[in-house]
Amino acid sequence: MPKSIIMKATIYCQSCSMPLHNEESKGTEKDFSKNDEYCRFCYKEGAFTNPEMTLKEMKIHVKTQMLKMNFPESAIQNTLKKLPELKRWKNKVRKYELEEGDFA
Ligand SMILES: [Zn+2]
Repeated sequence: MPKSIIMKATIYCQSCSMPLHNEESKGTEKDFSKNDEYCRFCYKEGAFTNPEMTLKEMKIHVKTQMLKMNFPESAIQNTLKKLPELKRWKNKVRKYELEEGDFA
């Protein structure tokens, strides 16, 4: 596969897993440059829009949004399963697992 195709692979928000298709969907830094890891809903002007949000709350949020967009249940479950692997949650997962148990 040519390198250019690999470079164009879709990147996903490392908080909510929304695909970052274009510059407009990316979050912004304080100097209004784009952040390549988070979407504009999660990250704005250098900070998370909802810094207190837990992984559990994010799962509920993502599920609600996907249901609104008529995603099939299997796609929703797949997305929810991937959330704990994202950068924002990775280091916190163990703690939440112990505190909150399985949530889907
Ligand atoms: Zn996001």
